[in-house]
Amino acid sequence: MTREVVWDHGVSLPTHRLWLDPLVVRSFAFISHAHTDHARRHKEALLTPQTLALIPESRRPRGWRMLGYREPMRRGDGNVTLYPAGHMLGSAQLLFEHDGTSLLYTGDIKLRQAGGALPTFVPKADVLIVETTYGRPHFRFGDPDSTVEAIAMWCRRALDSRVTPVLLCHALGKTEEMMLALAPYGFTFALEKRCVPCAREYATAGRPLPEWVELDGEAPRGCVVIAPPAGKDEVRRLGRYRTALVSGWAKDAEFSRMFGADATFDLSDHCDFDELMEVVERSGADQVYTVHGYTADFARHLRKKGIKASALEATEQLALAL
Ligand SMILES: [Zn+2]
Repeated sequence: MTREVVWDHGVSLPTHRLWLDPLVVRSFAFISHAHTDHARRHKEALLTPQTLALIPESRRPRGWRMLGYREPMRRGDGNVTLYPAGHMLGSAQLLFEHDGTSLLYTGDIKLRQAGGALPTFVPKADVLIVETTYGRPHFRFGDPDSTVEAIAMWCRRALDSRVTPVLLCHALGKTEEMMLALAPYGFTFALEKRCVPCAREYATAGRPLPEWVELDGEAPRGCVVIAPPAGKDEVRRLGRYRTALVSGWAKDAEFSRMFGADATFDLSDHCDFDELMEVVERSGADQVYTVHGYTADFARHLRKKGIKASALEATEQLALAL
């Protein structure tokens, strides 16, 4: 296998005609998960059944090849295997093996999982392409279980004083995972309208959610409200409410201020700086490429540790993945 990896509107292995999360329509491409920045109407897409179920009709690829986790698939004269990425329902890492050489593309990845689940498995590879959304050392997140507990207590305190708790979460993935994590505390939920289709899709894709209603203007009695962080018109109609931003960006004072939340919790569906280092270590790769977020910074930190690393994107665009 040639180790050639290039950036051309997405990650490309040119000698194997394989595109990984390309930003433009391609003939054959891997879609790592269902977030909008990754799904395009490719001629043929490789994805997990859950990812396909979570992509709305209007953004679905025209053709697809569904592949479950750990089911090897031939691609040309190489082998492709998908592994869970721990980022959201259906999210996958892709391992490509050819001629004794292997390459791992993480897509969006999260190692530590709440609820006592095992940390995400990282396969061994010679070459690693890793996402670096939080690739700066000030992004160090607390233990997910303790953070969920703190969020639950914050919600309970608000409800006890007849104030509506509003959690600001990305509509697809974070909202649903938040509901599942808080379910053991016995809350019921009211979802802002932009979270509603995503919650329905999650249930269709095979992960049933705790009881919820759609937010309809009134302050829902005894409910935890979940809404996307941007555009809070519906939230403002609630009267007495308190907001909390649930995101890795909680660790960035400037970003947190932008959303004007009353509280912040650093629960993320991405790796923090230390987890990213752990991904690199566990892969055992001797060549690392970084994509998304702080690509240049993280590559520099790796080089300081003696690891061959470079940022793949020529022009860096900071994607605010919530
Ligand atoms: Zn994502």
